[in-house]
Amino acid sequence: MWGLLGLCCAMMAAGAAGAPVPSTQEAFKSVPGVNSTATNQSAVASALQLANTSAETLPELQNDLSVAEGDILLSDDRNAVNMLWAQGVIPYTISMELAHRQSEIKEAFSMITSATCIRFQERTYEANYLDIKDGDGCASYVGCSGGAQSVYFGSTCSVGNLCHELVHAVGMYHEHTRYDRDQFISVIWDNIKPGKQGNFDVKMGDTLNLPYDFGSIMHYGTSYFSKDGSPTIQPNEGVNIGQRKRLSQLDIQKINTLYRCGSKY
Ligand SMILES: [Zn+2]
Repeated sequence: MWGLLGLCCAMMAAGAAGAPVPSTQEAFKSVPGVNSTATNQSAVASALQLANTSAETLPELQNDLSVAEGDILLSDDRNAVNMLWAQGVIPYTISMELAHRQSEIKEAFSMITSATCIRFQERTYEANYLDIKDGDGCASYVGCSGGAQSVYFGSTCSVGNLCHELVHAVGMYHEHTRYDRDQFISVIWDNIKPGKQGNFDVKMGDTLNLPYDFGSIMHYGTSYFSKDGSPTIQPNEGVNIGQRKRLSQLDIQKINTLYRCGSKY
C-alpha cells in the first residue's frame, strides 16, 4: 500500500504547524466586501480583512465537505496521512468554469514556482492531482491527499487567496496555529464569532526549526472570524499580519526545507 502510494506521493515528513482538527464549519455567512463609504484606512483595512476571512472559507451546506479553519478541507478518512508531492511536481486540471480565470491561476502558481522548487504541470495521466474548481470561497486539502484533489477558487477569492490555498496543498498549515504561537500573538477569544473558536486552536507539529513568521501568507489577519470587526489576533509586536501578496522569505524557506530543495533556492 505505502509502496504504491510512494510512486505518486511521498510521505509528509513534517507539517508546518501540526495535524488538522476534525471539526466542521458552520454555514457560510455573506461576504462583507470593502465598504466604499469607509473614510479611513483602518476601516478599509478592516473591511479587507473581513473579505479575506470570508473568501478563505467554504459553505459546508453547499459542498457537503468537512472543513477546518475555514479553508482546510478534511478527508473523510480522518486517519489519512498527509503526503508530499513526489519531486515537488504537482499535476493539475482547471475546471471549464474557470477558463476565464486561467491567467490568475497561473499567476498564483508563479508566486510559488518563482521562489521554490515546486512545479505545477498540467495533468496527463497522473493519479494524484489538483482539480482547481469554482466554489463559494477558497479551500484546499493540506498536502497530497491522493486522487483528484479539489482546490476551490471562488469568485470572492483573489490571486493571493488562491496562492494561500495552493500552499496548503503543498503541505503547509496556518502559521497562527503553531504550538509556540502564544509567544508571538495573543488570541482575543471574546472577539471571535461564536462557533469559530476552533479556527484558533493550537496544533502540535513540526515547525521545521524555523522562526515564527508574522509575514507568512499562511498567517491569519487581525480580524479573521471576528464577530464585529474587532481584532481576534493581536501581534505581540508592532507588525502587520494576514498579507496575501507574496510568499514571505520564511514561507519560501519552509517549502524548500520541506521538499529538501537544493541550495540554489
Ligand atoms: Zn488557509
